[in-house]
Amino acid sequence: KEQLLSVTGLKKYFEISQGMFKPKIVVKAVDDVSFDIYKGETFALVGESGCGKSTTGRTILKLTEPTAGEVLFKGQNIANLSYEAMRRLRSQMQMVFQDPYASLNPKKTIQQILMEPLAVHKKFEPQERLQKIIEILKVVGLSEAHLHRYPHEFSGGQRQRIGIARAVILNPDFIVADEPVSALDVSVQSQVINLMLEIQKKLHLTYLFISHDLSVIQHMTDRVAVMYLGRIVEIATTEELFDSPKHPYTQALLSAVPISHPMEKRERIVLEGDVPSPANPPSGCTFHPRCRFASDICKQIAPSAVAFSDTHKATCHLYNTEEEQQQ
Ligand code: SF4
Ligand code: MG
Repeated sequence: KEQLLSVTGLKKYFEISQGMFKPKIVVKAVDDVSFDIYKGETFALVGESGCGKSTTGRTILKLTEPTAGEVLFKGQNIANLSYEAMRRLRSQMQMVFQDPYASLNPKKTIQQILMEPLAVHKKFEPQERLQKIIEILKVVGLSEAHLHRYPHEFSGGQRQRIGIARAVILNPDFIVADEPVSALDVSVQSQVINLMLEIQKKLHLTYLFISHDLSVIQHMTDRVAVMYLGRIVEIATTEELFDSPKHPYTQALLSAVPISHPMEKRERIVLEGDVPSPANPPSGCTFHPRCRFASDICKQIAPSAVAFSDTHKATCHLYNTEEEQQQ
């Protein structure tokens, strides 16, 4: 398996002012996150809203500057690339947004919207550009007849097709898709997901797929990282994660998903309380106030990762036998 992207120790901290005479609060939105993404796969980031998954995606694309850490894209550390060098690389790394309506300029026609990236990145000769736009519209299931229409003239699903067309028209290698179907009607969601899978094969794309929806993730991803309060608490192949979730948080998330094996009975685990504020995270294992297995050590010491296979790791004291022996 060939690595396309390698993220190491990524941090994104925000400072929030509380007024002139009070100290600033530091919010650790992404706190020491590491993972690799292989060529051609779909890697998922999952977690409740506010867990840092969107910020991780945006930071990887350098839409926001990382506080610390390394992001290697094809072996090149983009964390310290200049603006100009990053602009050139941007055509290889694109984003599909959650709300296609908000991300498409309402005053521009589809032709103008799709022309923009081609002009900015000087891809294709000017006389070839219109042909390229028509070609990409076909790829996403639209046609030449739509060229002169405006975003409001399309349905939500069609607008997301336009958002996808805009992301892939430059021939990128890597797409970050942040909740690409969660603003759509359930009946349209699977069409857009199937389109994304089709395009992935056709254009040899690698996806970072950000979602809170585990049924979507089970259907379309190869590997999953579960995030909680800015950190990865479990990482595994999609099969491993759904067959044998290890972290109590993952177990609780999965227990809320409609069962995919009818023979299997799954207990519904209800998570108590809300996600704590990342401005003031709990001590030790930050999940402990909501964990039904929490013990004293969990309140005091942050657990380290335990490996269950080459591809499966979870960060939880339940599996850390050495620490148990020390107690
Ligand atoms: Fe629960 Fe403790 Fe594991 Fe954290 S370390 S998930 S509190 S058992
Ligand atoms: Mg988000």
